[in-house]
Amino acid sequence: MTTDVAVVGSGPAGLAAATAAAEREVSVLIIEREIELGGILQQCIHNGFGVEIFAQDLTGPEYAQRYIERARQAGVQALLDSMVLDVLPDRRIYVTNPRDGIVEVHPKAIVLAMGCRERTRGALAIPGTRPAGVYTAGTAQRLVNIEGYMPGRRFVILGSGDIGMIMARRLTFEGAVVERVLENMPYLNGLSRNYVQCIRDYNIPLEFCRTVAEVRGRKRVEAVVSVAVDEQRRPIPGTEEVIPCDTLLLSVGLIPENELSRRMGIHMDPATGGPIVDERMGTSLRGVFAAGNVVHVYDLVDWVTRAGEVAGRSAAEHVLGLDRASGKRIRTVAGKNVRLVVPQVFGLDALLEQGVQLQLRVRQPIEEKTRLTVTAETKELFRKTLRYVRPGEMIQIEMEPRVGRWLENTDSVVVDIAKAD
Ligand SMILES: Cc1cc2nc3c(=O)[nH]c(=O)nc-3n(C[C@H](O)[C@H](O)[C@H](O)COP(=O)(O)OP(=O)(O)OC[C@H]3O[C@@H](n4cnc5c(N)ncnc54)[C@H](O)[C@@H]3O)c2cc1C
Repeated sequence: MTTDVAVVGSGPAGLAAATAAAEREVSVLIIEREIELGGILQQCIHNGFGVEIFAQDLTGPEYAQRYIERARQAGVQALLDSMVLDVLPDRRIYVTNPRDGIVEVHPKAIVLAMGCRERTRGALAIPGTRPAGVYTAGTAQRLVNIEGYMPGRRFVILGSGDIGMIMARRLTFEGAVVERVLENMPYLNGLSRNYVQCIRDYNIPLEFCRTVAEVRGRKRVEAVVSVAVDEQRRPIPGTEEVIPCDTLLLSVGLIPENELSRRMGIHMDPATGGPIVDERMGTSLRGVFAAGNVVHVYDLVDWVTRAGEVAGRSAAEHVLGLDRASGKRIRTVAGKNVRLVVPQVFGLDALLEQGVQLQLRVRQPIEEKTRLTVTAETKELFRKTLRYVRPGEMIQIEMEPRVGRWLENTDSVVVDIAKAD
C-alpha cells in the first residue's frame, strides 16, 4: 500500500496532522488500532474541550467529531482496527488487522501520534494482596463511559492527576462514594480548574503528602491502608489509616507510548519520555514527525491539536520537497526549576522568520510572583512575570524573531524559572 503521508494514531494529534497534510493536496492515510477515530477523546464525555480553538465548551466526542468531519472533507483515508506493529527507519510500516492480516505501507512521510498510556500498579510497586478492584483511572473511565459498567461502589483514588479528579466527579454522579483522593506530593498534579470543578464542588476529600501503603482483600479489594509521607516521599510509621473500600483507582501519571519510535532509532528525551523534536515537530529521522502526547504530556487538547497541525504541515512539505534548508540549530536547555522544554531544538532561520513557541513544565510549584527568563550566554532574550507556576500546568511562551540576532554565535538557550525579586 502506498500513501504520501501515513499518520499513526487518530486522537486529536493524529486527526489534526492528517487534516493539515491533506489540505496541502497530498494523500494521507491514518492507521488506528481502535474501531473508530478520535483516540482517547471518545471516552472523555465531560465538557471542557475546545475552549481555546472553538471558544466553546465541548465534550471529548463532540470535539473529536468536528475533526473527524474536517479530515473526511479533506480526503483523509483511514485504516481502522489496524495495529501498527513496526516502523522501519526507511519508513516502511507493518500493520496488522483482522481483514488483511499483515499489510505493508510505504509512505513518503510519517506522523507519529500514538498518545500515551497510564502508569499502573506494577509501575508503583504498591504492596499488599492482588485482589480484583484495582484499575487505572482511564480504564475506569472507559468502563463507565463506553462499556456501561460500574467498576465499584466505594473508591479510593491515588494521585491528583486530571483523569483521576475527573473520574472522582463522574463516579459521584453515578452514585458511588469516593472516600478519598490521596496525593503523595504536597501539591496538586493536575489542573486547578479540575480541582475546583471535580473535587471541591463535590466535597470529595483530597489529602496531600499521603500515599497507599497496602492493598487489602482476598478476592476483591476490601480496604486500602493510607500513610503519610515525609519530604523524601518515605512512609512515616504510625500515620497509617485503614480506609474500607472496594476499588482503588490509580491516576499517577501518563507515559508517552513510544515503543515504535524507540525501535526506529529516533533520538529520545529522557525528560519528556518522547522523541526530541524541532519547531516543525520533526524527529531525528528525516521525514518522520511526531505530535501530541507521544511527544510530551499536554494538559489541554487544544495545544495537542496545534502540535498536530504543525506536524501534518511539515510532513506535507517534506513530501512536496519544500523542506526548509537545514540552517543553524539551537538547543533549548531546561535550567533552574524547569523539568522539560519542547521543542528541544529549533532552527535559527525559523526563529528569524516567524518566531518560535516553547512549551515547558516546572519541577516545583511557586505560589507567588515568578520570573521566567530565556538567556543565551549572558544575554537575556525573553522575560515574563507569572503569578504562580505549578507542575500540573504547562507554560507556553513565544520568542520573537528579533531575538534571533543574539543567537548567531551560540548554539543553546537556557530557560530558568525563579521567584521574582
Ligand atoms: C486514559 C486517558 C484519559 C484521558 N482523559 C482525559 C480527560 O478526561 N480530559 C482531558 O482533557 N484529557 C484527557 N486525557 C489526555 C488526552 O490524552 C489528551 O488531551 C489528548 O487526547 C492526547 O491526544 P493524542 O492524539 O496525542 O493521543 P490519543 O488521544 O491518546 O490518541 C492516540 C491514538 O493512537 C492510537 N495508537 C497508539 N498506538 C498505536 C499503534 N501501534 N497502532 C495504531 N494505533 C495506535 C490509539 O489507539 C489512540 O487512538 C486522557 C489521556 C488518557 C491516556
